[in-house]
Amino acid sequence: MEVKIMKNILGANKTLAEENRRYFKDKHITAVNVMASPGAGKTSVILKLIHSLKDEVNIGVIEGDIASSIDAEKIEKLGIAVIQVNTGGGCHLDANMIKASVESLCLKSDTLLFIENVGNLVCPSAFDLGEGIRMVVASVPEGHDKPFKYISMFEAADVIILNKVDLMPYMDFDRESFYKGVRALNDRAPVFEVSCRTGQGMDELVQWVRQACR
Ligand code: MG
Ligand code: ZN
Repeated sequence: MEVKIMKNILGANKTLAEENRRYFKDKHITAVNVMASPGAGKTSVILKLIHSLKDEVNIGVIEGDIASSIDAEKIEKLGIAVIQVNTGGGCHLDANMIKASVESLCLKSDTLLFIENVGNLVCPSAFDLGEGIRMVVASVPEGHDKPFKYISMFEAADVIILNKVDLMPYMDFDRESFYKGVRALNDRAPVFEVSCRTGQGMDELVQWVRQACR
């Protein structure tokens, strides 16, 4: 019985996600679903990309969190159109939340839309939002075993970011094992090693996102 209910929820979500996808396509909106565990650096990556790209493309942000508007406030300070979605305990965003958020954001055509999902490596990957790009952020302090444990997240990624690489000398992070785990699941997504703190590796990531917007 429970399985059936879950299927119905995912079925309804899929239909709404397709509506979102059509809307994004019609308006030339590149929607990026940013997923990671809490603290990996989703907001930091988005802020860095905003700094680099805001003079060349319209940017909008949907901030998903269980509670608070801390991250949305950081983005608002940069003069970027942002909306905070509080899920009230819910551990992922769904297509309906995105539909409602997009309506109130009134996005222009040719916009790069970042959707920061709730910090969670499990169910966000099961809920299609209608996005064009699935961005997964991993970080060095979390350890190299994440791809082995959160299979569907890494399988579905279009781009993978390994953040906080400046901490590599202080951590027992096995880079080779990390890549082995990633490539066993996903042989197409590029992996960018970055540090939002030092700026290392950001130019390559910015260039990739710029290309993806075209
Ligand atoms: Mg955040
Ligand atoms: Zn969830």
